[in-house]
Amino acid sequence: MAVKERSAQDDVRQSFDCAADRLGLSKGMCNMLIEPWRELRVSIPVRMDDDRIEVFIGYRVQHNAVRGPYKGGVRYHPHADEDEVRALASLMTWKTALLDIPFGGAKGGIELDPHTLSDAELNRLTRRYTRSIQHLLGPHRDIPAPDMGTNAQTMAWMMDEYGQLHGYNPSVVTGKPIELGGSAGREAATGRGAVFVLMEAMRDLGMQVQGARVAVQGFGNVGSWFARIAHEEGLRIVAVADLHGSVCNGSGLDIPALAEYAREHRTVAGFTGGENCRTEDIFSVECDVFVPAAMENALTEENAGTLPTKVVLEAANHPTTPEADRILCERGIPVLPDILVNGGGVTVSYFEWTQNLQQFSWTEERVNDELRHRIVAAYRAVVSKARQAGCTYREAAMEIGVERVARAIQLRGFV
Ligand code: NAD
Repeated sequence: MAVKERSAQDDVRQSFDCAADRLGLSKGMCNMLIEPWRELRVSIPVRMDDDRIEVFIGYRVQHNAVRGPYKGGVRYHPHADEDEVRALASLMTWKTALLDIPFGGAKGGIELDPHTLSDAELNRLTRRYTRSIQHLLGPHRDIPAPDMGTNAQTMAWMMDEYGQLHGYNPSVVTGKPIELGGSAGREAATGRGAVFVLMEAMRDLGMQVQGARVAVQGFGNVGSWFARIAHEEGLRIVAVADLHGSVCNGSGLDIPALAEYAREHRTVAGFTGGENCRTEDIFSVECDVFVPAAMENALTEENAGTLPTKVVLEAANHPTTPEADRILCERGIPVLPDILVNGGGVTVSYFEWTQNLQQFSWTEERVNDELRHRIVAAYRAVVSKARQAGCTYREAAMEIGVERVARAIQLRGFV
């Protein structure tokens, strides 16, 4: 897992090239679509609690804003380097286009393990990072959101720091605490969107939803909300893994109890409602649906050939290497791709931004209904394109996203 030697950009580029070929795009257009419009690398000095000064490296990559302001998460992770942030920024461009949301694509990151910093240190780090990139941000320029290692609290600090420089403006970030203008339903949105896609796909694939066995890798924001909502829908979560271990129970884990345990212990390891195993044992659990909801490169050529599942639902970003993708395709295992499956997060971020601009808040019911409507429409478009063109769901999703961005470039006529 987490094979950092490979380039995330090269992997994402393979999917892009395939879409561009199918669409017959010119070399010039391809270059316009590939190259990030703007990138910033910043050094972030932070006074640590013991009075030392540490310098962290951060990035904001603005990939493309032809369809609207840049939009994308901020990740705090040791692997959040230039290569990864660039790859994730481009995925955001295709994702917002596929979901037909009026945003472009961006991503930010700081190379560090956030678990090694105190809250006070994280607060100072986040403020310094925000100050260093503030000239790129704005409600109609670039709107960050949480991603791995960041959360609503991080967004509150970003909003506050931006506000001190530019005046109060909650629409500059999404994924904020509700008390500061966050949207009902935003925290659960990525997991909920993934469940909506899965339910549609299972119906189309003729799979029984009630009691279907699901294995989930990752129990952070995305994995835990996915598991909770899928459990409520009657799916049986037979295994959950995180960085510290996994728990398995063939009769189905008690997900509310597991979520409570993980909230208290910050891991699923040690939960007594199932058999405790190693993190990597998740790849050998018999299931109907495998859900990578942790990080990139989870499914590789080492495990894709034996993964005992019928469907892969990519809740994480770029969790499947191109080699693993080919192996799963050869085995006839459908892969529902990241830019569709985890699009619920950015969709509800869009609703949050809209509510902030209008200074009018929606009920959670309305948020969830609108989310269902948009993500199911995107799923239907992907299935229809895949059937028509005889291609995989990933190829179809990329083709739709890339085509919409290329069309917007043509219409704006800026070359
Ligand atoms: P998070 O930091 O809240 O949780 C990550 C989880 O993955 C944790 O449980 C962690 O222990 C686990 N994990 C990390 N490395 C692991 C490993 N090697 N093996 C097993 N488990 C491991 O992150 P998140 O916000 O839930 O994001 C997860 C993925 O979803 C990322 O790829 C992210 O880019 C993507 N995503 C997140 C959102 C969002 O709204 N948060 C939206 C779209 C996509």
